[in-house]
Amino acid sequence: MKLAARMSLVQPSPTMAVSAKARALRSRGVDVVDFGVGEPDFDTPVHVRDAIIQALRDGVSKYTAAAGLPVLREAIASEKNRLHGTDLSKENVIVTAGGKMALYELAMAVLSKGDEVLLPAPYWVSFPEQVKLAGGEPVVVSLSDDLILRRSDLERAATPKSRMVIVNTPSNPSGAVIPKEDLLAIADFCRDRGLLLVFDECYEAFLYPPASHSSLLERFPEMGDSLAVVGSYSKTFAMTGHRLGFCIANQELVAAMGKLQSHSTSNPVACIQVGGLAALQMREESERAVAAMKEEYAARRSLALERLDAIPGLRIRPPDGAFYLFPDVRAFLGPEVETSLALSEKLIEEAHVATVPGSAFGMEGFLRISYATSRDQIEEGLSRIDQALRPLAR
Ligand code: PLP
Repeated sequence: MKLAARMSLVQPSPTMAVSAKARALRSRGVDVVDFGVGEPDFDTPVHVRDAIIQALRDGVSKYTAAAGLPVLREAIASEKNRLHGTDLSKENVIVTAGGKMALYELAMAVLSKGDEVLLPAPYWVSFPEQVKLAGGEPVVVSLSDDLILRRSDLERAATPKSRMVIVNTPSNPSGAVIPKEDLLAIADFCRDRGLLLVFDECYEAFLYPPASHSSLLERFPEMGDSLAVVGSYSKTFAMTGHRLGFCIANQELVAAMGKLQSHSTSNPVACIQVGGLAALQMREESERAVAAMKEEYAARRSLALERLDAIPGLRIRPPDGAFYLFPDVRAFLGPEVETSLALSEKLIEEAHVATVPGSAFGMEGFLRISYATSRDQIEEGLSRIDQALRPLAR
C-alpha cells in the first residue's frame, strides 16, 4: 500500500517494541524480567479511581469542551499558581490525552517545514519523531559526561533556523535533573533568541534527595511567548492507561492547540478528567499516595544502584529523579556485541531481561533500565544482567 511520505520519516516507538517482545516471550511461558517499560507498576490511587467510577455512575459520558473541562483547566491553573506564584487562568491550560499528545500538538502548532528543534541527547524517544511528523528537523545536542544540559550546549547547536528546544527534567532516560541556575540560563537563552522552550516536567514528582526540581513555570510571566510547560498524570498518579496530561502556555498557543485537538482527539475522556480533578482537589490523599510511591522508588533505586555498582566495567551515574537507570555499557561492546541494540537483544533473548538500548534515545553505548518494578524483580533481573555481562567485559 502506498502510504504518505511522512510515514517513512518515523519509526515505531522502540520502548513499546521492547515491551511487545517481553509480552510475546511471556505468553510462551518464558519468565521475563521487564526493565523495558516506562510505566509505574502501582495502581492509580484509590480516591482517583473512585472519582472516575462515580463519574461514570453519574452519567459523565458526553463530549466535554475540546480543550478539557473548564473546571479542570481552572484547577490546574490554580494549583500551579499556588505552587509557583504565577497568575495563570484556564485560558493558559489545555487538557490533553496524555503529555505525549500535548507535545505533539505543540510541534504541530509551532513548527513550519525546515524549522530546527534542538534536542539534548539522551532524549525521550517520541521527541524527534513528533518533530519530523510536524515537518521540523531534529538537531541533536550532545551534552557533557554528567548528561546535564547547559546554556553553552544550546549556544553551540543553535542556528538561524532554530525554532524550538525540548528540555525534559527529570530526564527519561537518564534520570538527570537540571539544576536551577542552569535552567534559568537556558530559559534566558531561549527568550533572547526567540525560541520556544518546551519544558517537559512529566517526572517532577519523583526526585531523590538532595536533588530538587525547579519548575520553569516560575519564569512564565517573563518568558512571553517563549515557554510551554507539559505535565502528565501518567507518572505522578500512576495513570498511564487513562491518558491524561496538560500543557501550560500563552493563550494564543493554547488556543491553537485546542483547534488541533478539536479536529483530532476532541476532549480527553470525560470521566478520566473528573479523576484528574479529584487528584487535585483531594490534595492530602494525593500527596500521601505520591509520597508512598516515591518512597518505594527510592528504595528500589538504592537496591538497583548497589547491584549495578558490583558489576565490573559497568559505569553508572546515580539518577536524581524519575525511575530509570542509564548505565554506560561501553566496556561490554566489542566485536562480539557491537551496539547497545545488540546487547539489549542478547539480554532479552539469552537472559530474558528486557532493557532499552541507548541508541533509542540518541545515545549509543548505554542501556535504560526501568526500576518501576518490584524489588524481587530488580534483584533477579540485575543478577541475570550481571551473569550475562561478565563474560563480555573487556
Ligand atoms: N515525556 C516523557 C519524558 C515521557 O517519558 C513520557 C512518557 O513516557 C511522556 C512525556 C508522555 O507521557 P504520557 O503521554 O503518558 O502522559
